[in-house]
Amino acid sequence: VAATARFVARNPTSRSLHLEAAKSLPGGNTRSLLHNAPFPVFMQRGTGYEVISEDGHVYTDFVGELTAGLYGHANPIIHATLKSTLDNVGLNLGATTRLEAQHARLICERFGLDLIRFTNSGTEANLHALQAARRFTGKRKVIVFTGGYHGAVFSFPDQHPAPNNVDLDDWIVAEYNNIEDAQLKIEESSDVAAVLVEGMQGSGPCIVGSDEFLHAIQSSARKAGAVFILDEVMTSRLAPGGLQSIIGLEPDMTSFGKYLGGGITFGAFGGRADIMAIYDPRFSGTLAHSGTFNNNTLGMAAGYAGLSQIYTPETCMAFSSRGDVFRQRLQEATSGTKMTITGRGSLVGIHFLVDGCKVLRSVADRKDDNTLKDLFWFEMMEDGFWLTRRGSLSLILDTPRSELDRFVRSVKAFLDRHNHLV
Ligand code: PLP
Repeated sequence: VAATARFVARNPTSRSLHLEAAKSLPGGNTRSLLHNAPFPVFMQRGTGYEVISEDGHVYTDFVGELTAGLYGHANPIIHATLKSTLDNVGLNLGATTRLEAQHARLICERFGLDLIRFTNSGTEANLHALQAARRFTGKRKVIVFTGGYHGAVFSFPDQHPAPNNVDLDDWIVAEYNNIEDAQLKIEESSDVAAVLVEGMQGSGPCIVGSDEFLHAIQSSARKAGAVFILDEVMTSRLAPGGLQSIIGLEPDMTSFGKYLGGGITFGAFGGRADIMAIYDPRFSGTLAHSGTFNNNTLGMAAGYAGLSQIYTPETCMAFSSRGDVFRQRLQEATSGTKMTITGRGSLVGIHFLVDGCKVLRSVADRKDDNTLKDLFWFEMMEDGFWLTRRGSLSLILDTPRSELDRFVRSVKAFLDRHNHLV
């Protein structure tokens, strides 16, 4: 209660902007995840690895735009690319461009895809990957997993699809990291077109899929004649060839999004040539795939510049190692408490669990201590850290080591301050 009162007192401008916004937006915003009680913080601008609120508070940005903000808010290469695209190419040209072809080639090379198509978001990428799988197999059902999130209309908080999901009757939900349950559901259900899974569940936050589980469902999908789709919208940043290259998976299709558009709206899906041929308009009976902004010039140019000039394989590996060290330090700082740290590379999950469980295999194991979780969010903001309330951190490339150190110190101080609760 005291933390909420301090929050209200520190953010009067956000409060009044929220009340005004709620007159035209339900709840005063457009992204459910960003609504935080008692009202969302309004940010005014970002610069480098920081965001500055309408109330003038400066935060180190650990939201990192849910992984899309890898390059930070003012990366000079991204900035120059956007400017030169505006100056020399223009906004969408209502036509196919070189920008789209060069970005497609680079992503195919990096992630080992035969063919790819672009969309406006990760949600759309998954929608199309599923359509492709259905057309290719002539089947309809899709196996997904508890805790999975594949976009705004595909979320599976538990055994049931969320009520706003598309195709409500077509989902079969198996338990994440439970090989037996997954094998049974994949191999014994009829009409399975696809198995759709994240190698690490981003909105868990950061519940890691075991190598054995992911390999087992890949083989079961093959046995069942279903298309195995790996959702790498969040995880593609974890290694030069994505999480699949770390685990040795060979998905039939992969979906992408986030930073691969350089910070501009972006999505993509691709994989095996025989499946993707479904979209080749030179053949008859093909599937149409349209979208005004699919090949938007700014996203194609910024995405390509980011991947070719900034997030090179060497930078990607160094950044992931940096994230691993940071997470290890947080794990040491939180051992023996209700605070649990999960994740891989530059993606970190923070949990407050009533039973202090340290190994999270599925959302079913996650018994949240919501009071502590909320208190942590409020107090980290007072220390100048911008985080998602659910506890996911997505590191930005140029966040200095000193800020990572400061965060570890802040976490320790939080745990000391509330040692009777944690
Ligand atoms: N898939 C995963 C694993 C995601 O984390 C997200 C977004 O957070 C999506 C898909 C949807 O991407 P978008 O928000 O671009 O629609």
